[in-house]
Amino acid sequence: MAGSRLTDGFNRTPHKLRISVTDRCNMRCIYCMPQKEFSWRPRSEILSYEEITRLAKIFVGLGIEKIRVTGGEPLVRPQIETLISSLGKIEGLKKLSLTTNGLLLGEKVDLLKDAGLRSVNVSLDTLNQDRFKAITGIDGFKSVRASLEDAKDAGFEVKINTVVMRGHNESEIEDFAKLALNEGFTVRFIEFMPLDGSRIWDPSAVVPKHEMIERITRNVAELEPQNNNPSDPARLYTFKGGKGVVGFIPSMSEPFCSACDRVRLTSDGKFLTCLFEQPTYDVKALLRGGKLDKEIEAYIAECYRMKPEGVVGIIRSKNLNAGLNKMNTIGG
Ligand code: SAM
Ligand code: SF4
Repeated sequence: MAGSRLTDGFNRTPHKLRISVTDRCNMRCIYCMPQKEFSWRPRSEILSYEEITRLAKIFVGLGIEKIRVTGGEPLVRPQIETLISSLGKIEGLKKLSLTTNGLLLGEKVDLLKDAGLRSVNVSLDTLNQDRFKAITGIDGFKSVRASLEDAKDAGFEVKINTVVMRGHNESEIEDFAKLALNEGFTVRFIEFMPLDGSRIWDPSAVVPKHEMIERITRNVAELEPQNNNPSDPARLYTFKGGKGVVGFIPSMSEPFCSACDRVRLTSDGKFLTCLFEQPTYDVKALLRGGKLDKEIEAYIAECYRMKPEGVVGIIRSKNLNAGLNKMNTIGG
């Protein structure tokens, strides 16, 4: 089926689906997971690979063109490559990619490549080993750094995602920019969002895009904006002369809700039309209740019609607080 059959009250249509395959993670990033008490979802609640693939086909039939597999940490789910392989075969899907913390990427890279994956986003918030442990709870900097090279050597398109938090890692913005300039990785700086399980978010912890650009221009090199696709959350820039790419995801300082073309599926089978809404639309119940594909399609379309305006509406209503959702449970 060509085109999208989903539209919402703000005239948006989704083309990208993020599938969170697990809420489990082998890291405890301070900006994502609860730091104290938490429990994982029971395994019986988690969608099987067959269920995920069936739903992904339904979404592609509804106009989704790109799928990103995420989590929690997707690589902790056993035989994730079998899911990658099934998703990659869906007729009409134009791009499949995966977001990972990189800890297991080095050992999985060949399996993922054999399964057909060609694009990975690796999250890395610091280039300092001690700070890495302070942010993620794991002494894993060297493994993640090596996995970037492994993925590049295996021919993957590799992007680095860096969440910038004032008081934690904003002093490294220049070092990450140099990594993009000198080593050929696209580095995308993400503004810290109030989707933190431990509620440490505060407006003052957000380092806005303009401040990051100003630091890079002053201390590294001049930047030239690229022609950005408005629905792409990353505003891309090259360094003067065309070498190296950095991007900024200004979710808080310049929210891009009006051009949003993403929807999400949580690991327990909830359909999420916006990062900032509570997961309530239970497609797993329909799936396990024996509903036909066309009944599930109709339900998804009905839920999508109610997609809220987004964080921009929350900012306007002054209801912005820490911990609006837990990123590891909804899939970033
Ligand atoms: N575990 C994988 C990883 O870390 O890449 C995939 C899941 S993680 C939830 C997906 C992305 O969300 C990561 O790039 C992470 O840095 C980002 N993220 C998590 N919490 C965030 C927050 N509060 N604000 C902005 N980005 C966040
Ligand atoms: Fe795990 Fe990724 Fe969240 Fe870090 S950002 S705790 S690696 S899910």
